[in-house]
Amino acid sequence: MIELPESYTLAKQINENLLGKRVTAVTAAASPHKFAWYYGDPADYASRLIDREITSAIGLGIFVEICLSHTRLLFSDGVNLRWHPKAGPIPKKHQLLLAFDDGSSLSATIAMYGGIQCWEEGNDFDNPYYKIAKEKPSPLTDDFDKNYFNQLLSPEEVQKLSLKAALATEQRIPGLGNGSLQDILWKAKLNPRQKTNTLTKEETNRLYISIKETFFEMAHSGGRSTEKDLFGEPGGYQVVMCAANKEKPCPECGNLIQKESYMGGSVYTCPGCQPLA
Ligand SMILES: [Zn+2]
Repeated sequence: MIELPESYTLAKQINENLLGKRVTAVTAAASPHKFAWYYGDPADYASRLIDREITSAIGLGIFVEICLSHTRLLFSDGVNLRWHPKAGPIPKKHQLLLAFDDGSSLSATIAMYGGIQCWEEGNDFDNPYYKIAKEKPSPLTDDFDKNYFNQLLSPEEVQKLSLKAALATEQRIPGLGNGSLQDILWKAKLNPRQKTNTLTKEETNRLYISIKETFFEMAHSGGRSTEKDLFGEPGGYQVVMCAANKEKPCPECGNLIQKESYMGGSVYTCPGCQPLA
């Protein structure tokens, strides 16, 4: 799933490799998918995209936005984006395929669910999560500072929540999902079930620092090792708290890493580093 480290990485790789490429052919919704969400009729995508050039890309939380002349193309968290240089194989099933004037192509494939939105300037995509991702400060920026973080946690309805619910739902922090959450909490030595209103000042500070440092490291290492980049390669940040390390010793303390289901997803914790007080 695309979370902040991946949207940052994908946008960076698009900016490094795809700028100036002109779209020459578009295949949209060729493989029917129950949980693929388009903006408007995908049959109209060709007319919006053909002959447009890629001018930039930006990572916005769980979204990757590609700017083309007068057109925007947005991919959300469940989309696998791959660039295929001339000789590269193209996935058999895809939900969007763009061919470029240099013979390369970009495919977007949805596994479980995902959104592919294309619109022309002036007819902008109206979606609450997209708006949040554009308006709220990214943890990778200086605007996401200690004060801002304290304010984010201060409303009563947030204080009542567990850390997992407070940090990784509702896009309170754009791009912080259940995947990134695991190492963030492990490094902060906090349990996902701990209630936000029980955090001491020191724990809140540790959490803030972990969000900043872990995201910085994940983003600048090319994303998480559990996800793939624009070239289909795993990210360079080695995730500790993930399925591959279940029942393996924690690198900090040697206790075995536990997997549990919690709030509609798996959480990985170290009983030594993250006891539930
Ligand atoms: Zn540990």
